[in-house]
Amino acid sequence: MNHTDIFAHRAQGMKASEIRELLKLLDQPDIISFAGGIPDPKYFPRAAFAEAMTVALDEATAGVALQYAASEGYVPLREWIADHMKTLGVSCDIDNIMVTAGSQQALDYLGKLFLDKDDTALVEWPTYLGALGAFNAYEPQFDRLNAGENRDPDAVAKQAQAAGGRAKFSYLSPDFANPTGKTLTKAERLAVLAQAEALGIAVIEDGAYQSLRYEGDAIPSILALEMADKGDIDACRTIYCGSFSKTLAPGLRVGWVVAAKPVISQIVLLKQAADLQTATINQIAVNHVARAVFDDHVVTLREVYGTRLNAMLNSLQAHMPEGITWTSPEGGMFVWLTLPAAMDGKDLLEQALAQKVAFVPGAAFYADGDTKNTIRLNFSMANEATIGTGIARLAEVIRTAMAR
Ligand code: PMP
Repeated sequence: MNHTDIFAHRAQGMKASEIRELLKLLDQPDIISFAGGIPDPKYFPRAAFAEAMTVALDEATAGVALQYAASEGYVPLREWIADHMKTLGVSCDIDNIMVTAGSQQALDYLGKLFLDKDDTALVEWPTYLGALGAFNAYEPQFDRLNAGENRDPDAVAKQAQAAGGRAKFSYLSPDFANPTGKTLTKAERLAVLAQAEALGIAVIEDGAYQSLRYEGDAIPSILALEMADKGDIDACRTIYCGSFSKTLAPGLRVGWVVAAKPVISQIVLLKQAADLQTATINQIAVNHVARAVFDDHVVTLREVYGTRLNAMLNSLQAHMPEGITWTSPEGGMFVWLTLPAAMDGKDLLEQALAQKVAFVPGAAFYADGDTKNTIRLNFSMANEATIGTGIARLAEVIRTAMAR
């Protein structure tokens, strides 16, 4: 039988990316890869997790750790998250918090909750590829969210209507976005809120990298800005997605959503239908480790990754030819590089792999896939010396391509 004939319409739009095929070549020895988007495993708080798992599996507590649990999430972990959100200017109680299997799951649920076919999601251009993938399953249209541009809300609403639905939410990552590394100013964040207010839509704030700031002063999250205005989380349109993946460990798949209670109650129903709950023992372990080491651990990560970011920016400055520009992030894991207009990041990747250096071509981060002359460079995985060698190699590849 040919199952593809009976796949649902939404599944037919899902494609494996050609880039994945190219990136399989990363297993070659001596390749320097700026392609990943993952934390350096050397800095996982392994000892704290070993202790947490031992405690969780103690005879007295194993019955809880290995048992089913509430879909909302493990209460002591939600209490830690509530305290953490308070330090970010958001006071809420645990009924405003649901634990998810990574923030990726939250993006899926929020797409499922809000998007009918042909409704419009406003996203940054470029935006997080995984968000486009999560939302795409619900067959939406995408429009540009540009915080600096102040587009007329009526024009946005009309365009959404012409596309066959209505605008439902803006999705963005205001701190050290994946892929650009950019951070929105306070004024830009307020503009996103004002636009959402005018359109009557939600704001999905992706805070995956918020704790990883290496320079400059923290800017309040969009949810914190809205809270400062409205004073009550249940009156807020912003839905905040958090994650332990970038700070503690992605493999345990623990993230969270903070939102008004009606949103939380509804995504709890979605979670019950999808996977019942996030793994109990993982939530218990993350709670233990967060309480034991979170603040100190984040200080370590800021030092390590901040040094790597500087190494990358200095190497780019030293080696890149005229005509190449890049972002100067204050945190996160990525630098975004713009090539001359006629150059395609995908072709460049093929040439770069031959010289044993890798990155992710930028086109996949655009909802329309139309902009080809950008690439994403990750700096969290390699040490400073390797970053220097890799950027020098990449600059040579770009110089050769420009000379063609
Ligand atoms: N949001 C952004 C911006 C990301 O970069 C990632 C991970 N690449 C995620 C969400 C998902 O992370 P997780 O599900 O591990 O929390």
